[in-house]
Amino acid sequence: MKCACWLGPRRIEIIERPKPEIKSGEVLIQVESVGVCGSDIHYYLEGKIGDQVVIPPLVLGHEFSGIVCDTREGKYKHLLGKRVAVEPGFACGTCEFCKTGHYNVCTNMRFLGGPGCDGALSEYIAVPAEYCFPVPQFMPADIASMVEPTAVALHAVELASLCPGETALIVGLGSIGLLTAQFLLNCGASLVAGIDLIPHRTDVAQKLGVHQTFTASIQNSIEESISWIKQITGSRGFDVTFDCTNRSEGIIIACQGTRPASRSILVGISGEDYDRIPISIARRRELKLQWCRRFRYNFPSTIKLIEQGKIQFDLILTHHFRPEQTQTAFEMVSKTEGNLIKASIDWV
Ligand SMILES: [Zn+2]
Ligand SMILES: [Zn+2]
Repeated sequence: MKCACWLGPRRIEIIERPKPEIKSGEVLIQVESVGVCGSDIHYYLEGKIGDQVVIPPLVLGHEFSGIVCDTREGKYKHLLGKRVAVEPGFACGTCEFCKTGHYNVCTNMRFLGGPGCDGALSEYIAVPAEYCFPVPQFMPADIASMVEPTAVALHAVELASLCPGETALIVGLGSIGLLTAQFLLNCGASLVAGIDLIPHRTDVAQKLGVHQTFTASIQNSIEESISWIKQITGSRGFDVTFDCTNRSEGIIIACQGTRPASRSILVGISGEDYDRIPISIARRRELKLQWCRRFRYNFPSTIKLIEQGKIQFDLILTHHFRPEQTQTAFEMVSKTEGNLIKASIDWV
């Protein structure tokens, strides 16, 4: 079978590999669509995210959908021929955190397209059946591959414990930010505001119903964002803020934008080992900083909400590529070229 293999910084090539063998508990999936995530880009460019280091050759990709085409065990027969969205992190099930339900922070996690574990940018992949979630017949493969990032946004909003009527700020309007915005609007936030560096993204946010947006300049993003936040909240700040950026500045802006005695949800991945936090403000305001690690039991409800038309993807899923164009796709995503927000690599 073919797979798009990462061979080192800025190098992905199509190579031939044997079709995977399925082990006990697994099913074989014919991959249809793979989304390119900001975390894939960190690995593609830098070969690491903080202390998580990947060693080439490695197949990247964890946001994917496909058709279940083989299983050895009768109990998974019902999945055969079904299109599924796959949770890409396989928890051990036996550590303290798995046993207490926090499997998303399992200390023995195997994550597709992460250190030591080949991902989904290939024709076939074998995965544990229990991580496969069938989607409705009419849901196209590229939307099914968006279940994964959408589940991250759902988990972020869940961690915020949003009350209807509260005001919210999203820093970073990439796909996670734009999906988070839609959940916040669905949950009855009275004001959803968003900040990005790219005018196209603030435009898309407006079209999706975000009430107020601001495009900051890259040189002066912190100061400009803070003064805009002061202006639209009358110096009070937002009830809840979300950092959905891929840069250190995102956390600073999110903290600065949070009203006293409230919380900021940190979803973005700067890729650094250490980010700066405006500690004096965070302390004086008695802020809660809540990091978000992927998702936790969010796939079924995410699929249901997508099925009900509660989340729009047409302005987010902007680019489609063939497998041979994987390197081009990664380059475009890393440079956010051509109004690209989310790219999908289509294998069939
Ligand atoms: Zn991702
Ligand atoms: Zn575990």
